[in-house]
Amino acid sequence: RRANLAVLRDLPAVTKDGVPIELMINAGLREDVAALDLTGARGIGLFRTEFQFLVSATLPQRERQQRLYRDVLDAAGDRPVIFRTVDIGGDKALPYMTVDDEALEENPAMGWRALRLALEREGLLKVQARALIEAAAGRTLNVMFPMVSEPWEYEAARQLFVGQRAWLASRGKKLPAAIRYGAMLEVPGLVETLDLMLPHLDFLSIGTNDLTQFLFAADRAHPRLAERYDWLSPIVMRYIARVVKLVSGTKVALGVCGEMGGRPLEAMALLGVGIERLSITPAGVAPVKAMIRSLDLAALRTDMPAILARPSSDPRGQYRAWAKANGV
Ligand code: PEP
Ligand code: MG
Repeated sequence: RRANLAVLRDLPAVTKDGVPIELMINAGLREDVAALDLTGARGIGLFRTEFQFLVSATLPQRERQQRLYRDVLDAAGDRPVIFRTVDIGGDKALPYMTVDDEALEENPAMGWRALRLALEREGLLKVQARALIEAAAGRTLNVMFPMVSEPWEYEAARQLFVGQRAWLASRGKKLPAAIRYGAMLEVPGLVETLDLMLPHLDFLSIGTNDLTQFLFAADRAHPRLAERYDWLSPIVMRYIARVVKLVSGTKVALGVCGEMGGRPLEAMALLGVGIERLSITPAGVAPVKAMIRSLDLAALRTDMPAILARPSSDPRGQYRAWAKANGV
């Protein structure tokens, strides 16, 4: 297969039975954008803006943020980029950001992080909103909010962007041609009120790294737990199937941007439950595309209910067996 990588880059990500799959990459640094050309991915499905904050010695000012976002958009050209607003706080603490003693955390992953922090440090989010809106002048801006736990949080963040766009317009600034808004589904409970958010969303991206850590109540960074719960467990796959069902029939574009999508067997299972957009690590693009091109998706979807219904201590083995039996 190795020899085929260069050839694969220019081949479409379409299943054997003709279903096109959107393959995008995850990125976070200016340099990562080069991976678009190297992999032939359709765009950047997750740009982690906190990377710039994490590698800086001081809080990046608006001009620096804006320059980065513009450089990324320039390099991406016609290919879409989804910018995720900062996911800082918790374990991604910034040395230059002062936190009061009360905020010292025993469980940082479940702590004051991401959108929770950004909605309270509104100045930070406003600066980022302006940087993104100005950087995308004349183009489409795709913004995504991390760790949304309740619909009102998403709505508050979206309104903040709407307000900053209006403010920039009043100052005569050139605006994006369109702004598309999305949320990450990483906090499992959000699914219970997803219907309330769907009318206000352009896209929804399932972050399976955090989602699985919260579904299993198992720290994603704990070495003893890392191998213990499988992404292919019916707990994860049934959850995602449920989200697919809730979103289907709406105009919301649903995808997965967690690491699991970058592995062929996991990606196959995701396609099996109805996911058709993946944003993955650049190294995963070729192997996942090879899987896609060898897959009879209709056959997998026919067998999927049985796979999800069968009790098994080895769910991975079930998918492996299916792949082998079906020439994937
Ligand atoms: C996720 O949680 O799945 C995700 C994509 O975000 P991050 O890995 O940056 O937390
Ligand atoms: Mg996450």
